[in-house]
Amino acid sequence: MGEPRKPAAVAARRSAVSKRPDPGARIQQVAPIVPEPEVHKAFQLHTTCLTASAQMPDGYPKKIRCNPFTVGDIKTLVYAPQDEMYYETLVNVFNPLCDVDVSQLTVIDFEALILFMRVNVCGPTSAYNITCSKCGKVSPAIVNLRQFKLTSLPSTYSEPKKLETISLGLPRVYARMTYERINNVDMDRWALHIMEGNSAEEKIKLFDKQDPGVFEDMMKFSKAVADAGVDPTWPFHCRKKFDADGHESSTGEPCDFQEDLVVPFRGQFFLPEHTSGDTK
Ligand SMILES: [Zn+2]
Repeated sequence: MGEPRKPAAVAARRSAVSKRPDPGARIQQVAPIVPEPEVHKAFQLHTTCLTASAQMPDGYPKKIRCNPFTVGDIKTLVYAPQDEMYYETLVNVFNPLCDVDVSQLTVIDFEALILFMRVNVCGPTSAYNITCSKCGKVSPAIVNLRQFKLTSLPSTYSEPKKLETISLGLPRVYARMTYERINNVDMDRWALHIMEGNSAEEKIKLFDKQDPGVFEDMMKFSKAVADAGVDPTWPFHCRKKFDADGHESSTGEPCDFQEDLVVPFRGQFFLPEHTSGDTK
């Protein structure tokens, strides 16, 4: 057997791209010469910010346009170390997908964006194995992420609120990111309301310099927006049943324990629920 003959189309394409085509060759397929497409990013999704009705600083976006996660992005989000650097991982994954610099967003807009992307790209449900705080047994649970309550910032909210040497606003993503990296006393979280400073450390230093009156202003400011944002709580209800000896039994006494669980925007949250298999 000799070498297999090249298909006619391949031979023709070869001659079409060679510098000196054989004038006798019949050209069957030639790619038309078109100018390079204009480099512009098209976005497939968009969502309105929770801060859209409030009076935000000039240039703050009302809407975020974004593209869906790639498979690689989802792998990164699911398998990245679940530690103090995870918030930065979120920022690094979301930034190239969005038309805004997500590190400059308010934390509440970023969380709403994360939820929006999760629901629209991976679907509205997430599967968890939940350990009951009462009986200690593990139950599989499907969390419907659309149940999370989203509260927009009131239109009366206005920032920055100028004080003497600092101004106040909602915590921003870059500040939260640097805050996560440092192990801090919880009280320092208040410093994230300070708009000046490029990191949590700088904001904490500024905060420490203020007199106690500033803390009161911060509390008032923070109270006005306490309800705004994503509330990722999900009501868990344990349906396990136990016989008199404490063993699981389909006819025994139900555990019936109920508690509100907070779903963290980490690893498992981004794993799409497998549609095959157990659909309980
Ligand atoms: Zn239980």
